[in-house]
Amino acid sequence: MECIFCKIVDNTLPSRKIYEDDDNVAILDINPASPGHVLVIPKKHKMDIFDIEGLDLRRTIEVVKLIAEKLKKELNTPNMNIIQNNGRIAGQIVDHLHIHVVPRFPNDNIDFRIPRYEMGQDQFYEIQKKLNINSKLPDPPTPSPKTETEEKK
Ligand code: 5GP
Ligand code: ZN
Repeated sequence: MECIFCKIVDNTLPSRKIYEDDDNVAILDINPASPGHVLVIPKKHKMDIFDIEGLDLRRTIEVVKLIAEKLKKELNTPNMNIIQNNGRIAGQIVDHLHIHVVPRFPNDNIDFRIPRYEMGQDQFYEIQKKLNINSKLPDPPTPSPKTETEEKK
């Protein structure tokens, strides 16, 4: 198995573990965004969000919560980014699912803010229609020619 996180899980590769149970480990990221940047990793080799089963993911998220609480308490910050990348375009480098927990501090010069995409009402309409997974929802309103931003001006 060539996966570095599988090797970390089975201790073939060294890591700074701070938590371990039957299903997950949490380690310090080797190249942290901030002091206290932790990766929560399920022990089973699951590539990404599409690969992992719901129950396993729930167990992993429970550990994320535990780690976030620990960071908050020990590092004295309630500011935290929780990030999980899927696929190269989304920035995934290691193909074994992991969740980043990044504590944030004043003036830490990290910018995880999401860039915004200007979207017209037609595109909002089409996307809402396509993504509607609850059949009880009413049809979305018909598109109007102006974008919401234009309407605000
Ligand atoms: P990704 O971009 O795939 O979401 O993030 C992968 C993360 O794994 C990066 O933040 C990187 O610093 C971390 N990482 C890569 N290799 C190792 C390693 O061998 N040990 C540890 N502790 N972290 C690693
Ligand atoms: Zn793996």
